[in-house]
Amino acid sequence: MNEIESWREEVRAWLEQNCPASMRLPIVPDDMVWGGSQVEFGSADQRVWFERMRDRGWFAPDWPTAYGGGGLSPRHARVLEQEMLRLGCRQPQYNLGIWMLGPVLLEYGSEEQKQTHLKPMMRGTARWCQGFSEPNAGSDLASLRTSARREGDELIINGSKIWTSYGEKSDWMYALVRTDPAAAIKQQGISFVLIDMHAPGVTVKPIELISGKSSFCEVFFDDVRVPAGNVVGPWNGGWSVAKKLLQHERAAMSKFSEGSAPSHDILQVASGYLFDDQGRCTEPVLRDRMAGVLMDSHAFALTHQRVKEEALARMDVSGPVSIMKLVMTEQEAAKYELLMQIMGHRALGWEEQGFTALEHDICRTWLLSKTYAIAGGSSEVQLNIIAKRVLGLPA
Ligand SMILES: Cc1cc2nc3c(=O)[nH]c(=O)nc-3n(C[C@H](O)[C@H](O)[C@H](O)COP(=O)(O)OP(=O)(O)OC[C@H]3O[C@@H](n4cnc5c(N)ncnc54)[C@H](O)[C@@H]3O)c2cc1C
Repeated sequence: MNEIESWREEVRAWLEQNCPASMRLPIVPDDMVWGGSQVEFGSADQRVWFERMRDRGWFAPDWPTAYGGGGLSPRHARVLEQEMLRLGCRQPQYNLGIWMLGPVLLEYGSEEQKQTHLKPMMRGTARWCQGFSEPNAGSDLASLRTSARREGDELIINGSKIWTSYGEKSDWMYALVRTDPAAAIKQQGISFVLIDMHAPGVTVKPIELISGKSSFCEVFFDDVRVPAGNVVGPWNGGWSVAKKLLQHERAAMSKFSEGSAPSHDILQVASGYLFDDQGRCTEPVLRDRMAGVLMDSHAFALTHQRVKEEALARMDVSGPVSIMKLVMTEQEAAKYELLMQIMGHRALGWEEQGFTALEHDICRTWLLSKTYAIAGGSSEVQLNIIAKRVLGLPA
């Protein structure tokens, strides 16, 4: 047995022994454990799983141990990922810091920034939010106007951000701010900065949604003072850092069907509504469409595998990452539209009363799937990137 295969055996045995059975069930929105100072565990198993993975450094298995990571090579970390997927293990902690900011800090951050910020993510004690979008800067992100001016060793930040997911529950924000309003090219006057959400002058206002719940916030900055050492990458050079971060965001989103976000097995769900006593699907048209969804999903998984191998081989995957994000989000949306048709009104269990827990989850995940085509850069924006960077079409 080669070294990777014996590592696989070791990992498999560890996961089987340490991942509680309830942490191997598909994730549902209410069961996602978000790290940070306001971390909440819905069950003892959630806490145990969180703590065991944290203690191994496996919130980010391939980060260096010096920063609290698992110290695994990319190939060994990939084996861990595959084995977690095989057993259906849930992510033990959800944190934008780990998915997006951490890899960027490892590449662009100063030693002090790495020492200060990576370990708290890896302990699960600091939760991060993303401060990119503004009322007039979404797809056209480079038009952002939140400003930062330098005063001695500090930056003074003024302005506001919008659509900040879970801003009120976060300890830190990574943000884009305008540091040179006179720059001839707007992308060249932007810096990437880390802001303490508890600093004086930061106000967070949840945006009320039609559902009565809210994960979005507006965040206002009123003369917020931030140490100049919190700028990541070069002064006025934040655009390149942001582009890299968005790549990590899109790569994370293209893994949604691998259990990192709520998703359902279409065959398993459909069997309760459409199949006869002998396990046969009684509706030829819906059966055909289900077969289409399953084939697309299989083709996606194989292509995703190839892109990951290319990334491991250090090839430039910035174009393919946009393709994967686009296709994944469209496939998830199509799957839930089909489930709506298969389940009929049973898929509209917005209230828990009168519906099963599964029906209630399907309804919420159907609605959630619609947001994927906007978050992290809309599908139209991904198409523009693919046209320009992958196909080389004129802008
Ligand atoms: C679930 C969710 C979570 C989010 N979380 C965060 C967060 O935590 N932090 C954060 O900063 N932002 C967040 N966002 C905001 C998100 O990044 C923006 O909504 C997104 O970038 C689109 O910007 P916009 O809403 O201003 O729409 P606009 O940019 O105004 O776009 C409106 C429509 O026009 C289309 N369009 C715009 N420009 C073009 C073009 N050049 N070519 C073709 N079509 C175009 C778009 O595709 C879209 O359909 C989140 C959004 C969602 C849905």
